[in-house]
Amino acid sequence: MNMNQDAYTSKRDFERTQEPQGNTLKKEGEPPIFVIQKHDASTLHYDFRLEIGGTLKSWAVPKGPSNDPSVKRMAIPTEDHPMDYAWFEGTIPQGEYGGGTVMIWDKGSFHNLKTDKEGNPLSLEESYAQGTVEVFLEGRKLQGGFAMIKMKSGRMAGNWLLTKMKDEYANPNYDPVKTETLSASSGRTMEEIAQHGSAQEGST
Ligand code: MN
Repeated sequence: MNMNQDAYTSKRDFERTQEPQGNTLKKEGEPPIFVIQKHDASTLHYDFRLEIGGTLKSWAVPKGPSNDPSVKRMAIPTEDHPMDYAWFEGTIPQGEYGGGTVMIWDKGSFHNLKTDKEGNPLSLEESYAQGTVEVFLEGRKLQGGFAMIKMKSGRMAGNWLLTKMKDEYANPNYDPVKTETLSASSGRTMEEIAQHGSAQEGST
């Protein structure tokens, strides 16, 4: 059990919610994974989660990701989630923490782009600790470089900004949040997930 997940566990009643608690071990050499979950809770938002150090580092992004490098999206850090959360799609009962519908909006693997000033690779753990994460996403909906930068001063200190990095995958004219409305896992709409709850991956 990753100690960083204590906050996750303490916020939830697992007699009531079907949210996962496990950290299923991955095969050696498999790349790290990311997931973006569209979450219709008290306010609709997109939960961006990156596998770093054996857990899913998590941010709530109210407006979701943009493919336009000139757009900065607020990303509010939330508690570390267990690895198995990447496969969670369904409903959280009303009255429970995060009550509402959860869609796997995008998922895939990623690789670390971050280097130090000399151009040497910087580990994900180090770059997260320093507050500048740069990753290349290989999702169903999002591809290419994305940067997250932690704000260190001002009114928003402690929050992060998510931006599309400038590369061949950047496209200011394609708004993935507006265009892509179906689950990357099951193909369902938010309404279908809300009605039927959890489904096995790939089923409807
Ligand atoms: Mn959420």
